[in-house]
Amino acid sequence: MTQKTVKPGSIRALAAGLKAGEFTALELAENCLDRIAARDDDVRAFIKYDPEQLRKAARESDERRLAGRALSEYDGIPIGVKDNIAVAGESCSCASKLLEPVISPYDATVIARLKSAGLIPFGRLNMDEFAMGSSCENSAFRQTANPHDLGRVPGGSSGGSAACVAAEFLPATLGSDTGGSIRQPAAFCGVVGLKPTYGRVSRYGLVAFASSLDQIGPLTVDVPDAGILLDLISGADSRDSTCLPEPPTSTFQAALEGARSGSLRGVRIGLPREYFEGGLTPGVERVTRMAIERLKALGAVMVELSLPHTKYAVAVYYIVATAEASANLARFDGIRYGARVEGSDLVDTYFKTRGAGFGDEVKRRILLGTYVLSSGYYDAYYLRAQKVRTLIRRDFETAFGQCDFMLTPVTPNSAFKFHEKSDPLQMYLSDIFTIALNLSGHCGISVPAGRDDNGMPVGVQFMAPPLAEAGLLRTAAAFEAAGE
Ligand code: GLN
Repeated sequence: MTQKTVKPGSIRALAAGLKAGEFTALELAENCLDRIAARDDDVRAFIKYDPEQLRKAARESDERRLAGRALSEYDGIPIGVKDNIAVAGESCSCASKLLEPVISPYDATVIARLKSAGLIPFGRLNMDEFAMGSSCENSAFRQTANPHDLGRVPGGSSGGSAACVAAEFLPATLGSDTGGSIRQPAAFCGVVGLKPTYGRVSRYGLVAFASSLDQIGPLTVDVPDAGILLDLISGADSRDSTCLPEPPTSTFQAALEGARSGSLRGVRIGLPREYFEGGLTPGVERVTRMAIERLKALGAVMVELSLPHTKYAVAVYYIVATAEASANLARFDGIRYGARVEGSDLVDTYFKTRGAGFGDEVKRRILLGTYVLSSGYYDAYYLRAQKVRTLIRRDFETAFGQCDFMLTPVTPNSAFKFHEKSDPLQMYLSDIFTIALNLSGHCGISVPAGRDDNGMPVGVQFMAPPLAEAGLLRTAAAFEAAGE
């Protein structure tokens, strides 16, 4: 029997096709699996996936729909999952040898919510080990390639999640963003990536990297789809005390309206000076300037402003994030779960397990983190960094008194070649435009805006005040629609 072709498309388009009976969830699944089989040997977005599991879930979805019991209009749509988000019965290695043997006993809250609407969490997507990195080169297992140029990185740490959408394997994926790990790979791969406000989405079931910064968010083909997924995964969760007592968002409608109305008349867009001062490649600079013109044509008003503490953001981030990581990763000791290398006694077992299980970047971060927390250095580094973090947050509060949203580049450059940034500091600097938003806790989105001189995608970042995702998505959708 010849296979029915289901064209790759947005969550909305696929939901409409399922509803109209143009294809079944199983046919959709088979098409996704065919595309993955044809190209993932080159792209390497997945660490693992089980085709039978997807077929089984798709058949169940078809049965529900046939019986008139579809769990939502999105029932049967597969969503890829970054390897640090727990799905019951599946591995959750965080792309680390240390956690390679782990099978999650439970679903992360975001996964439970997707399942309760009938969506199918599928596969384990590659990432930098424990989400530490900007290129996916820190994965212990494989290097994901950028689908637009296989000689270049997809970004990181959610590189597998971005590449999976860009290669049209699946309509959307989940990633996590601690310092830019959703927005930066989205920009490198030409897809949409949303970092919600801190506390908007439950972190229950997300393996913690830096708990005060981590947020789960969607990577999608367009802005309204990001609204759909955010609405499905957001909302209060008694299992995560840092999750805000807010109901799930209803941002999708706003994003749709933004796309339809196409007007941003009177919307004030802040352009923070520090994000445009030097360091941008000509391609990124050109695309960002064009984005500003597009916003002006939509009626938006540009407001030049300043985020004066921006220059400290990278330093503050690499103190706060490594401090939290060193504490969070202390539990991976070979005793409770994961791989163990037996030593002559308990302490030796810890040493051998962690020595063999963690990669170089993870060890570097643990060393940095324990150093900045150690007595004698705590005041000089950690405490000071927390104070500067407050100043960075205040910069944002002041700026949002002068504008409704801000527009910036996502990264100084587009996707770079493998091994091009072998110096860790060089790599850290690629987060320069994304990490302040994690330190402040605000929300932001990366939207494709054009291509550079190498033909690689370039994104722009919209930033918004806390809990202003609906307006953020409306604005981003209007911008996106005007570029089509
Ligand atoms: N690239 C940054 C880092 O290496 C951010 C990672 C992230 O957001 N998870 O820490």
